[in-house]
Amino acid sequence: MIKGLNWLSTFMELKVNSVRQGGLCVACLCPNAFNGLCQPCRADLPVNRWHCRCCALPLAFPSAELLCGDCLKFPPPFSLSCIPWRYQYPLDGMIGRYKYNGQRKFARPLLADFAGLLEQRLNSEALPKPDVLVPAPMDSKRRRRRGFNQARDMAEYLARDLGIPVAAGLVRRVRRVRAQRELNREARLANLRGVFEVTSAAPERVAIVDDVVTTGATVRVLASALREAGARDIQVWALARTPG
Ligand SMILES: [Zn+2]
Ligand SMILES: [Zn+2]
Repeated sequence: MIKGLNWLSTFMELKVNSVRQGGLCVACLCPNAFNGLCQPCRADLPVNRWHCRCCALPLAFPSAELLCGDCLKFPPPFSLSCIPWRYQYPLDGMIGRYKYNGQRKFARPLLADFAGLLEQRLNSEALPKPDVLVPAPMDSKRRRRRGFNQARDMAEYLARDLGIPVAAGLVRRVRRVRAQRELNREARLANLRGVFEVTSAAPERVAIVDDVVTTGATVRVLASALREAGARDIQVWALARTPG
């Protein structure tokens, strides 16, 4: 009996410790994780340190005021982007497992850190607080095949943490598009024309939430649609940006 109680208290102690430490690291499986990632693995994440101040395109050198060529030539319909990482190893693999295999544990460290960063920037007023979060919509066929829309899942996580509502039904994706990667700028924008439908008037301040911003064409078209529906200040919140 006493032996059993000892075993039980040891078990409980281990359980409490594992909760405090967050259990195994999703990247290296060591037991010292915090929010699912240990400190050395967290330090390996590719931080998007130097970037365009509007679209967060990674840049090779620092400059607080610098805009990338694309933003200079074609000012985007959004005011700023908050995108903390570059879409590179090992973060690309973590996002892939989340998005294509539905393994949320790989996104948890990223979402927890991202929510912390956003909270800090909202509190310091470096970011104006949006009225709603708008997840980048996915067409229904793809969502059925994948089982969920990762942008909506992300927006719901951030909404709980930051106390900002999600407007999931505000924008619909009305058709599928060809892969964007091999198209040039004009073709990308033409490819996306009429792809989003805003279902009601948009609030004044909106943050678009997506997992990865690749060419930036999709968020531009989505932001334009929201602007036409009445949004005045649009931000882009994403986990990662592909290097140009
Ligand atoms: Zn680790
Ligand atoms: Zn830019």
